Amino acid sequence: MDNITNKEKLAVWLNEKWKEGIKCPVCKENDWGLYEQLWELKQFHKGATFNYERPMIPLAIITCNNCGHTMHFNALKIGLTIPDGLISSKKVK
Ligand SMILES: [Zn+2]
Repeated sequence: MDNITNKEKLAVWLNEKWKEGIKCPVCKENDWGLYEQLWELKQFHKGATFNYERPMIPLAIITCNNCGHTMHFNALKIGLTIPDGLISSKKVK
């Protein structure tokens, strides 16, 4: 059983991958808010504004607590746990 939360996995992954420290590219502060929840980025499809079957990428989000700049990372690449209910469409690998 994996008891590590997505937020904890994301923090470890960021510290491992971000070689030069995690400074905000906008304000240069190092104060980030991480979310436990994941978000969806759906493939654009003309005329299908409400189509759940579009391919999607699950995203982890971090936000600068100083200026609000937000970045997203592919949750599959990080190895985060994807809740069953979150994905009703195909995953893009
Ligand atoms: Zn910032």
